[in-house]
Amino acid sequence: MPDLLLRDVRLVDLDGTGRRAGRTDVLVLDGVVAEVGPAATTRARSAARAVPVLEGEGRWALPGLWDQHVHLQQWGLTRARLDLSGAGSAAEALATVRAALAAGGLPPTGVLTGFGHRSATWADQPTTAALDEVAGEVPVVLVSADCHHGWLSSAAQRRLGVPYRDGVVAEAEWFAANDVLTALPGAAEQASAAMSVAVDDALARGVVGVTDLEFGRPWELWRARHEAGEQLLRVRVGVYPEDLQHVLDAGARTGEPVAGAGGLVTMGPLKIISDGSLNTRTAWCHEPYADGHRLAHPSGAANHDADEVRELLSAAVAGGLEVALHAIGDAAVHQALDAFRQTGARGGIEHAQLVDLADLPLWSRLPVRASVQPAHLLDDRAVTEQCWPDRTDRTFTLRSFLDHGIELALGSDAPVAPLDPWLAAAAAVHRGPADGDSWHPDQAITAREALAASVDGRRLRPGGPGDVVLLDEDPLAPAGMPSREQARALRAASVSATVLAGRLVHGR
Ligand SMILES: [Zn+2]
Repeated sequence: MPDLLLRDVRLVDLDGTGRRAGRTDVLVLDGVVAEVGPAATTRARSAARAVPVLEGEGRWALPGLWDQHVHLQQWGLTRARLDLSGAGSAAEALATVRAALAAGGLPPTGVLTGFGHRSATWADQPTTAALDEVAGEVPVVLVSADCHHGWLSSAAQRRLGVPYRDGVVAEAEWFAANDVLTALPGAAEQASAAMSVAVDDALARGVVGVTDLEFGRPWELWRARHEAGEQLLRVRVGVYPEDLQHVLDAGARTGEPVAGAGGLVTMGPLKIISDGSLNTRTAWCHEPYADGHRLAHPSGAANHDADEVRELLSAAVAGGLEVALHAIGDAAVHQALDAFRQTGARGGIEHAQLVDLADLPLWSRLPVRASVQPAHLLDDRAVTEQCWPDRTDRTFTLRSFLDHGIELALGSDAPVAPLDPWLAAAAAVHRGPADGDSWHPDQAITAREALAASVDGRRLRPGGPGDVVLLDEDPLAPAGMPSREQARALRAASVSATVLAGRLVHGR
């Protein structure tokens, strides 16, 4: 691993010590922070080998940023897909598909794939018949923004092996169909190129690590990238229950390097999707959705009952794996906490979008993070007010998590939101658009707290990984600034260098 002396930098005050940031030096030896302070330069001079120098010129230094929940291949592929994020109705989505088909040129897979519609608030609902009228015999797959359903033409349903239905393919059935989609001839090349773009883009934003909860066997993707000499970042790869036995048989434990993938890729958690999502109105709640009378499950539904969740967590504990337990509705969060408590499993609850505040004291006593994606609140506000009008004050309860002493870890769930920790932090701080008001500001956290929840618990201290981000400005606006201004400073942060394990991987 490389050495590097970062000279003349100022440390961002992540702990709110209030001390004025003097200029200092950071020495990384063999990929690990060896010294912070004036002694760094002396020690670099006396090192056995010449240590390269990066001139900080007074720039602001942060530990490398992490995104604790991504689907990296899906995120990369998003850019190659038809963008449906602006569709305000099924009719508008269909018009976009019609225009794309008229323009011609299908991807190598032969399947026109779109991404990003949010149909929960549409007045008209997606039907296969309507899509067929536009698509004819062309397989068309439209992946919802929350990735919990696909809207498929009949030709696409046949191509992906889904029995015909006049409506969307959701949850487990959709996840299986998506696996077929990503395994079509031509898909692997497309995905590999897409991942390269995604990695470079992440490094440019100061992201040095991700928890990759990609479906299938993401460790194989990363091993292939390592073998091909592609740029990597730190990755914790998740495993889904389908492949749990495979991972247990291989003896891979959370935190250990993935064999054959270099040192940067390690085994992450067992990922379990215990309920659905808000946009697909399948997140499992204590009380019915406002339009519950129209739903097959008026309060959403669990994907696994309590016994199944407990069994999976017990298997993870026995195999040395942490657990990333997807739970969006308050009933699912409650069940998740019970399962963690009963099994002694460690890890995080993913999303925890709606919580019963009475559950937080129990949560605070468990070794379980709140792994949350604040940028979702920007997209989900309208649908939350429509589906859960009586409980909007219990969604994205970041302030309450911190006040209860629950560890907070920010992420994006890219491609559901962009892989951009600055956007996530800004949303956590202002809880609204750059030019709009704050939604339930009592649940906002400070910019310092948001950044502290974005660095994987690290500080720039000897013994820590040699991952450093240099910024042109201090991202922490002066105390007392309105949340909108703090959020603006975060969104405007300019990452001018990213150092990964002592190697400059972005900027100068
Ligand atoms: Zn996810």
